[in-house]
Amino acid sequence: MSTPNLQQCVQYLKGVGPARAELLAKLGINTVGELIFHLPRSYDDLTNVKPLEQIEAGVLQTVQGEVVEIDGKELPDGRRVTQVVIADPHGKCVAGVWYNSLMIVGKVHYGQQVAFSGKPKWYRDHWTMNHPRVQVLNEKEAKLEVVPVYPLTEGLRPEHLRDAIRLALEKSADEILDTLSALIRARREYPSVAQALWQVHFPEALPQGVHARRRFIYEEFLILQVALAVRRRSMRDRQQAPKLATTPQIDAHIRKLYPFALTADQNRAIASIVKDLASDRPMQRLLQADVGAGKTAVAIYALLVAVANKHQAIIMAPTEVLAQQHWQTLEQYLAKSRVRRALLTGSLSSKERERTLNGLKAGEIDLVVGTQALIQDDVEFAKLALVVIDEQHKFGVNQRARVKKLGVDPHYLVMIATPIPRTIALSVFGDLDTSTIKQLPPGRQSVLTRWHAEAQRERVYQRFQEEIKKGRQAYIVCPLVEESETLDLTSATELYEILRTGPFKDCRVGLLHGRLSDDEKKHVMNAFRDRQLDLLVTTVVIEVGVDVPNATRMIIEHADRFGLSQLHQLRGRVSRGTVAGECYLFAGVTTDEARQRLRAISRTTDGFALAEEDARLRGLGEFFGTRQHGLGDLRFGDLLHDIDLLEMARADAIEIVAADAGLRQPEHHALRQAVLARYGQTLDLAAIG
Ligand code: ADP
Ligand code: MG
Repeated sequence: MSTPNLQQCVQYLKGVGPARAELLAKLGINTVGELIFHLPRSYDDLTNVKPLEQIEAGVLQTVQGEVVEIDGKELPDGRRVTQVVIADPHGKCVAGVWYNSLMIVGKVHYGQQVAFSGKPKWYRDHWTMNHPRVQVLNEKEAKLEVVPVYPLTEGLRPEHLRDAIRLALEKSADEILDTLSALIRARREYPSVAQALWQVHFPEALPQGVHARRRFIYEEFLILQVALAVRRRSMRDRQQAPKLATTPQIDAHIRKLYPFALTADQNRAIASIVKDLASDRPMQRLLQADVGAGKTAVAIYALLVAVANKHQAIIMAPTEVLAQQHWQTLEQYLAKSRVRRALLTGSLSSKERERTLNGLKAGEIDLVVGTQALIQDDVEFAKLALVVIDEQHKFGVNQRARVKKLGVDPHYLVMIATPIPRTIALSVFGDLDTSTIKQLPPGRQSVLTRWHAEAQRERVYQRFQEEIKKGRQAYIVCPLVEESETLDLTSATELYEILRTGPFKDCRVGLLHGRLSDDEKKHVMNAFRDRQLDLLVTTVVIEVGVDVPNATRMIIEHADRFGLSQLHQLRGRVSRGTVAGECYLFAGVTTDEARQRLRAISRTTDGFALAEEDARLRGLGEFFGTRQHGLGDLRFGDLLHDIDLLEMARADAIEIVAADAGLRQPEHHALRQAVLARYGQTLDLAAIG
């Protein structure tokens, strides 16, 4: 897309010069191309003139009238105030007011028609606007403006930015290659890139600017979705994955291992997986479920299909605690089975590790549970057929690529801990097929969630003690491990001491946090699971997957410090059994947003609804950790607000790649370049490279 003109320094544009170039650089604008693509964030529509009698307080609007008064005076406090009053033919007026500003002086004259744009305020007995934007409507250029609102930096005036953009467009707009083919443009009714650039920066009317802006957002999404579609295709096209058949005997054999009947949602997910595994194209499937809906049961089915087909399978967790947990779950399911299995984590002794590695290499181990230790270079497999990755969002897109390089072409099943908003499913996981489990197992009680004031703490503690007397267990979750000097929060260690010696001195209290060694963590978790502890003071290390059905009560301290999905995930820990769980939130809430979050979590137990709400409240970057999801920042698009464009782009991308997998056709030349430039480093795009 870059021609010499576009790569030229902005400094050499007429009227820019070194000083202004420095300001532009602060906005990330160094070249003419970057200047052209510095799109407005929004527009102020100053063409929509309201009659003066419909003036409304506090809302940005444009009103028009004849200048009937120009007045300047000094206030007692020394400020200079200038007032210009305009009136309509019916005598209705509004006064524009400027403090210590010369902007207006000499710009308007008695009898002129002018328009003021600003937010009106009723002052004593008349309408005023502070520092309105003024448009002088003399006979010749009576056209009112749609004014783009740009991200600016201090010292850079919007007029200067617009002048520079105008010059750059005049010089270079026609050189820019269009990423969108004529076909796509016609289908989506988008202007060419040059037209769109003019329209986005200098729209004749608001809809024109907005439409042009949407074109660029669509284009950005298309590039992303084409990259994902290419990656997905290239995985599919390899056709080297082992075909894993699920015969009726295998199915019956596996089902016998479950102490319960699978839910309809679980069965549906299994049916899709069975179909995927039977193909020689590697499965690429995302399994998402509400907390506690039973993903692990589904994953185990898949693992056992691989083993039944005389292949190896691995399940990988993001933490040692969770790998342990999976291991124990597997042990329960497989108690009477001959599946040869191993646990591979960082805490194995080097001798144990070596024995396990040899077993994997020789094909003497069928099933292995582990952490990242599984994907180190020295781990070799005799016949790896399936990789199950649990809690994917802790790994990120890049790591997914890394795991992929380990075997020949295993099947992949990716599981995520909490439901994710649809936009994330479409973007971050856009190259995967999706199975969703919404239904909770029968008899599962939902967690009653209450946000309590500090005054109720004593009462909540009492209820916990009663519950503990009945043989139940409870969690108390803190955001921090140790006292922090900057944040006035009780830490887990501190709270542990307080509770152990105070309100819960008759109970067995344990402490679990991320700074413990893996051995210590394992020890505490086992003690809690074996009911040697009544109360566990902990941090978010228990967030993912910890499964102790006898634990039915939870307190979350400083709950405002957790995201919605995280809160939902946390309270999911006390709904594992058949007794109704209760979760109490304590929080000194400071922001409106936090208050909304705590209300939402108290109101609904639908994890999918909460995920959308979370993303809406916090923005996706926060929700997912922008860097973590490996997609870099989107420049124009907003995954939350532009979901219609995202879906459109996705549909078009799939079609484009289906018709022209290598993007070799001339009309896809520019698109291919754009995709490689943007995602060539992050995603494995060999198919088009
Ligand atoms: P997730 O990983 O989705 O949070 P798990 O797979 O860990 O959920 O399952 C949560 C709990 O529900 C486990 O204790 C599991 O034994 C149980 N469970 C799973 N599926 C069913 C089912 N169909 N019927 C009854 N209990 C189930
Ligand atoms: Mg789980």
